[in-house]
Order: sequence, then C-alpha cells, then structure tokens
Amino acid sequence: MTANAPITQDVHTIPRKDVPGDGRTNLVGLTREGLRAALIEAGTPEKQSKMRTNQMWQWLYHWGVRDFADMTNLSKDYRAMLTERFVITVPEVVSRQISNDGTRKYLVRIAGGHEVETVYIPEEDRGTLCISSQVGCTLTCSFCHTGTQKLVRNLTPGEIVGQIMLARDDLNEWPEPGLSTGAMGPRLLSNIVLMGMGEPLYNFEAVRDAMKIAMDGEGMALSRRRITLSTSGVVPEIARTAEEIGCMLAVSFHATTDEIRDRLVPINKKWNIETLLDALREYPKVSNSERITFEYVMLKGVNDSDTDARRLVDLIRGIPAKINLIPFNEWPGAPYERSDQKRIKAFSEIVYKAGYASPIRTPRGEDIMAACGQLKSATERARKSRAEIASEAGISS
Ligand code: SAH
Ligand code: SF4
Repeated sequence: MTANAPITQDVHTIPRKDVPGDGRTNLVGLTREGLRAALIEAGTPEKQSKMRTNQMWQWLYHWGVRDFADMTNLSKDYRAMLTERFVITVPEVVSRQISNDGTRKYLVRIAGGHEVETVYIPEEDRGTLCISSQVGCTLTCSFCHTGTQKLVRNLTPGEIVGQIMLARDDLNEWPEPGLSTGAMGPRLLSNIVLMGMGEPLYNFEAVRDAMKIAMDGEGMALSRRRITLSTSGVVPEIARTAEEIGCMLAVSFHATTDEIRDRLVPINKKWNIETLLDALREYPKVSNSERITFEYVMLKGVNDSDTDARRLVDLIRGIPAKINLIPFNEWPGAPYERSDQKRIKAFSEIVYKAGYASPIRTPRGEDIMAACGQLKSATERARKSRAEIASEAGISS
C-alpha cells in the first residue's frame, strides 16, 4: 500500500440484534405518533403512552441507546416487554473507506441484502452527511453513475434516519450522560444533504418522516436550515416539500435549454424548465428558507459556454439563489468529460457578476469514488450496459 492510498476497513460497529423475520418491530423510523401507537398496541396504558413515547424518543434519538436494558428510567418489567416485542436497529455498515481528505464512505447493508452508500464530508466549519433515499434510481440522468443502476427499492424511514445514526455511532457523537449535545463542542455531524443515491421526491413520505425525526428538538435536533434536499425536478412534490418538510432545497438544473436538459436530466421531458422555475419561485415563500441552490454540473462542450452562463442568470432572475458549480466527476464508461478549470472559472465569473454566489464545488473523496454522482454499490447486478447509457445520452456508441 502506498502512503497515499485510502484506507478501507471492514467494520461491524453495530452488533445485529434483529433476526430478520423474528417478528419483532424495529422502533427506528417510526414517527412520534407511530411510536405511541406501537407502545399502546404492546399494552402500554393509553394514559401513560405520551410520557413513555417521550422517554423512548430520548433514548433512541438523543442518547443513541440500542439496548432496552440501558433505559434506566423504565421499570424492569416494562423493559422486558419492550425486548420481547421490539428491536432498535440501524442498517449495518459493511465497510468503511476513509479518503486522504478525511471523507468517509460507508457501504451500508439494508434488509434484503441490498446496499447503499452514505458519505461523511468533514469541513472546517461543518460536517456534512450525504445520505441515500433509494437503492438505485428510476431516473436516468446521463451523467450520473447512480442513474446507470435500475431502481431496486425505496428506503424505509428507518433506513434513511438510520444512516444518520450509524454515522453518529462511527463518529462517536452521541452525548455523554448528563451532557447536552451542544455542551460537547461543535458537532462533527452538523448538516445533512439528501444527495446520495436516489431521487428523494420519489420516496416522499419516507424521506419526510425520516427528516422529521432528524429535526425533532428532543432528539438529534438538526435544524431544518442544515438539511438540504436535492431533487432532479419532481415538480408536484416541490410544493409538498415546502409545506411538509420545510428544509432547504437544491435542484439539479444542469442546462439552460430544454433541448439539452432533456438529454441530461430526462425528467425535463415531463416537467420542463419553465414549469420547474414556476415551482421554485414559490418555494422560499412557503418554506421560509432564504434561497434555493441550483446545482450545475460542468460538462465539457455540452453546457459550459458563456452563453449558457448568461442564459442561466436570465432564467433564474427573481429567485433568491446560489449556483453550485459541480465539476463533472468521471466514472467508468461515462459519456462526458469535465470542463476545464479555466472554463469553469469563466462561467462562475459571469454568474457572480450577475449577483449570485457561484462557488465551484471541490470534489471530495474522489479516491474512494465518494464524490457526487459516483455512488453506486458495486455489488448491485441490475445494471445498464454502456450502450444503453450512451444511447440515453443521445450519443452513438
Ligand atoms: N437525485 C437527486 C439527488 C442525488 S444526485 C438529484 O438528482 O438531485 C446529487 C447531485 O449530484 C445532483 O445535483 C446530481 O445532478 C449530481 N451529480 C450526479 N452525477 C454527477 C457526476 N458524475 N458528477 C458531478 N455531479 C453529479
Ligand atoms: Fe437519479 Fe439524481 Fe442520479 Fe438523476 S442525478 S439519476 S435523479 S440520482
């Protein structure tokens, strides 16, 4: 191994307690109402159910406890009943890779033997966890590695919020008894981005319930302003996101004409640029968030001209926005190349002069294939061929 090689470790940080099919219900991922209903169903008197729900909630999401035996403010009998009926499990970490830049990529196994990836990106002023919402994706954006993998299934709320919990386990970031999270110093895991595998708005309810859990002030207490959901542009669900989640929104914009966007982000054929922009104009008002992030992947000779930059700022005029320029991350068989650094800078300059922040995203964790759009579990077999990818991108192979 060379000095710079990334470190791969097989870890089993979380002892598995659930035997699949043993009939016990996993409490992770239930909403407060769901948890209360489960406790009542298991015999908790209705009158006590609210208090018990609060107690359990804190054990689960504030203290990160996985063993009912550790829930010291509950009677022995009650703990025995819980053990009989329920489990507290998060998805299993199959392997963890640590990049030279500190980025951690977890390969996570979920029920059915499927795998998703979760990426932790430490920065100076924050630590961001990039989580997945689906195994694969139904959409087929031609520059995206995940898009070459067919949709296998949606993640459950427990599997989505479980990714935050397993990262907190790995970072050793559950509060010490007697201390609040804030008293432990700046958080290692302070931000969430729904930018991993999958289209979160095609798994709306599960994503919403998981984010509600993450935002709950009596648990992990992540502010809605520190959660960013990225969508390729599922227009009907954008208004719902504002109303029912209220987090920050990022949109995979990537092109300034319908002709090019149809090719890059095929969902554009259903909801075109104009329809998408109409939905985005409403978002900040309803969700009370300051601005929308426009993600723009820089593809050499495809969408990166000065004309594109000018058209972009004309299109979004009036929308409070930040433009995140993402240098294309290559993957085996990708039908595109990354724009030159000079081109990206020139594009950024035009956008910036028009009054918008236009940061160029530094690729993180490239050595471990953890960068944007590179995620795809190597073990999934349901793949498309190179020819399929190329033909969907409108390129003859
Ligand atoms: N499905 C959602 C969220 C996941 S993708 C969405 O499409 O928005 C997260 C971001 O990475 C999106 O902006 C996506 O367009 C971008 N991305 C995908 N493949 C990429 C690649 N190869 N290089 C750079 N960015 C990519
Ligand atoms: Fe799916 Fe997003 Fe990739 Fe498009 S960019 S294929 S929506 S994960």
